[in-house]
Amino acid sequence: MNFKEIIEEIYHKVKNIDSKGEVASYIPELATVDAESFGIYISTLDQNNFGIGNWQDKFSIQSIAKVLSLVLAYRMVGEKIWTRLGVEPSGNPFNSLTQLEVDNGIPRNPFINAGAIVICDILISHLENPKEDFLAFVRSISNNTALNYSYAVAESEKEIGFRNIALCNFIKSFGNIENEPSEVLNFYFDLCSLEMNCQQLSEAFLFLANNGRRTIDNIAILTKSQSKRINALMQTCGFYDESGEFAFKVGLPGKSGVGGGIIAVHPNQYTIAVWSPKLNKKGNSYKGMRFLEDFTTKSELSIF
Ligand code: GLU
Repeated sequence: MNFKEIIEEIYHKVKNIDSKGEVASYIPELATVDAESFGIYISTLDQNNFGIGNWQDKFSIQSIAKVLSLVLAYRMVGEKIWTRLGVEPSGNPFNSLTQLEVDNGIPRNPFINAGAIVICDILISHLENPKEDFLAFVRSISNNTALNYSYAVAESEKEIGFRNIALCNFIKSFGNIENEPSEVLNFYFDLCSLEMNCQQLSEAFLFLANNGRRTIDNIAILTKSQSKRINALMQTCGFYDESGEFAFKVGLPGKSGVGGGIIAVHPNQYTIAVWSPKLNKKGNSYKGMRFLEDFTTKSELSIF
């Protein structure tokens, strides 16, 4: 498959369309990004890798980090993790408080903010130094010691994170947070501030295309069954209340973040990272979605 040719063609087409989206500005630091950035990187299991556009520029991966924190918690806790949160698509905005009330403080899935906050609580209960240990885990699955948090983004979100503060306290009132809410939230804001470029992002997720095994040495990050389940969750819950649309148009497990990044995984084939900061109304990268829709259509490589 000549990915380079397909990606180049779609990149030039999508780059020139008028992006209707808006850069996320509710976290002030995210609004400082160049709104016209557009980068893509594909990593394949047979080393047919390729990048185009701003693929070497770092960006805030935001909610995409929620997949990696879930992976670490799932590794440590196993199946009993699902007593603390569900595996159903939410169909509601990612920061909904009303849904949490209806669900008695058990977040519907690990990728809405409430679910990711519970995962942070689980990690704090199991790790000696959560912030450092999580970063070490991300560096190890990526085989890249250069990865880091952004202090500026984390601090910026801490200043305006009132809704997440409300969510965390609300879950605590139902007895589903064990630790101090301020500690849980600080860790949550830190992990959302992780930065990667498109290449680093596609490499970090490659184990999910490889049945849970790191590609450089075949070491298991997750079991085959756990890896299948993480991909299933990305497929059903990875795009907020637009997850159905992403499955319909793109047909790959994936996860988006309000920094404008999207990672998509084709099990046994490849991972592809796209970054374009302008978001559609549901909070997903406008051009990122457009690019991936054309990419899986043209390459005829989706899971459906
Ligand atoms: N840190 C962001 C928040 O909590 C993450 C949102 C996202 O990327 O979906 O609002």
